Amino acid sequence: TYYGISYDNAKKMRQERLSPALFLYYKSPVMLNQGHMQWIWDHTGKRYLDMYAGIVTVSVGHCHPKVNQAAREQMDKLWHTTNIYMHPRIHEYAEKLTERLPGNLKVCFFCNSGSEANDLAMLMAKLYTGATDIISLRNAYHGINGCTVGLCGVGSWKFMVPGISGIHHTMNPDPYKGLWGGSHCRDSPVQTQRQCSCETNQCQATNQYIEQLQEIFKYSLPKKRIAAFFAESIQGVGGTVQFTKGYLKKAFEMVRERGGLCVSDEVQTGFVRTGSHYWGFQNHDVVPDIVTMAKGIGNGYPLAAVVTTPEISKTLSEATFFNTFGGNPVACAVGSTVLDIIDEEKHMENCNRIGKHLLDQLAKLRDEFEIVGDVRGKGLMIGVELVTSKESKNPLPVSDMNDIFEDCKEMGLIIGKGGESGNVFRIKPPMCITQADADFCVAVMRKAFSNYVQRTNN
Ligand code: PMP
Repeated sequence: TYYGISYDNAKKMRQERLSPALFLYYKSPVMLNQGHMQWIWDHTGKRYLDMYAGIVTVSVGHCHPKVNQAAREQMDKLWHTTNIYMHPRIHEYAEKLTERLPGNLKVCFFCNSGSEANDLAMLMAKLYTGATDIISLRNAYHGINGCTVGLCGVGSWKFMVPGISGIHHTMNPDPYKGLWGGSHCRDSPVQTQRQCSCETNQCQATNQYIEQLQEIFKYSLPKKRIAAFFAESIQGVGGTVQFTKGYLKKAFEMVRERGGLCVSDEVQTGFVRTGSHYWGFQNHDVVPDIVTMAKGIGNGYPLAAVVTTPEISKTLSEATFFNTFGGNPVACAVGSTVLDIIDEEKHMENCNRIGKHLLDQLAKLRDEFEIVGDVRGKGLMIGVELVTSKESKNPLPVSDMNDIFEDCKEMGLIIGKGGESGNVFRIKPPMCITQADADFCVAVMRKAFSNYVQRTNN
C-alpha cells in the first residue's frame, strides 16, 4: 500500500469519492508512484516510457532536478504573494518569457490553467474590439470552463446545456479527413497518402477552406465585426490535426479585415515542441495578437499565461482584474527554470531531430499495416490515426483501440489517445527523449499492431 491505500481500494474510492465524470485510461489503470525525466513508475515498481507526458505537460522531464531545485528553494523562501504586492520573480519571468515572443507581444497575465487563459483571452478580445462574436475551428479544444467549452468543436466535450452565444465554428482545414487536401498540403515530414491537386506553392485546399470561413461571415455575421478568431497551431485533443498550408495566414488576414483579433492557443504546441520554432504559430508565418499558454510552460506545475500587446492589455484596466494564484513566486521560479532548460538542453534541436526520426519510423508502420491510416505531426507533436481500412478511413472501433492501447502499456509504453472518434494515438513525450526511446516506442507499437492483426485474423 501507498499512503495507506491499496491499489484495489484506490479503484473503489475513486468511484465513491471522486467525480463520476473522471475517466481513466486502461482496463487495469496505472497507479503512478514516481517519475524521472521520460520515465514513470507504477505502484508495483514497473517502469514505463512516458510518450504522453501527462498530456503534453511534462515538457523538460518528470521531476527535472533543476526545476525541482528551483521550486524547492522558492518554497523555502516564500510561496505566495498575490499580485497586490511586488515580487522579483514575476518580473524576471515576464521579461524572460516575452523575450522569446515575436512582435509586440510584450505583456503577460499569469493564471493557472489553459481554460483560464483562453477564457481571459476571450474577455480581452471582446473588450478591445467592442464586438462579441468569436470564430473557432471544428475539432478544436480550448478548455472546459463555462466560456471556453463553447469554443471547443469536439463533440465528446459538449454538454447538453446551452453554451455562451456568439461562437461560430468554421470547417476544419484537415488535409486527411477533411473534404479537401492531401499530400503536400501540410507541413510535416510525413505526407498523407491522399493525392491533391496543389501546385508547388499554392494550396488549392486552403482556398476552399478559406471560402468556408468567408461563408460564416456572409451567412452568420453579415456586416458585423468580430471579436476574435481562435486556433491551435496543431490541434491536440482533436487528434494532432495539422492544417492545410497557408490556411492560418489567410484566416488571420480575413479576421483582421473584420476588426477581429487573432488568438493562438499554444497550450500544446508552444515551447519548441514542433522542433522548428519556439511557437507553433511561427510554422504558419503569422504573429497573433494574443497567445495563450499552459501545460508545458510549467513542466507539470499549475501555471498558464496570456501574452498580448501593451495596447490590448490595457482593456483589462477598465475594471478590477484579479487572479489569486496567477504568477505566484513558486510558479514563476518553475516557469523561468523551464525556459533555461529548453535553451541549455537544446530541446528545439532534439524535438526536430528525434521528431523526424520518429515520424520516419512511424511512417513505416503505416506502410506495413492496413489499420494505420495516417501518420502526421511535426517535432514531438505526433498523431497516428487508426482506421478499419486505408480506403474507407473509418475509425477503428474504440474497443479495438483500447486493446492496442492496453497492449502497449503492458509492454511498458505510455501513449495518449484523441480525435473526434478516439482513434488517434497521440505521441507527445517529454522533450528530453532519445533516439533509443523513439525506437522502443515504434517497436512496441509494431508489436501491438501485429498482435491485433493476429487476434482479428483468428
Ligand atoms: N487548450 C488546449 C490546446 C488544450 O489542449 C487544453 C487542455 N487539453 C486546454 C486549452 C485547456 O487547458 P487546461 O486543461 O489546463 O484548462
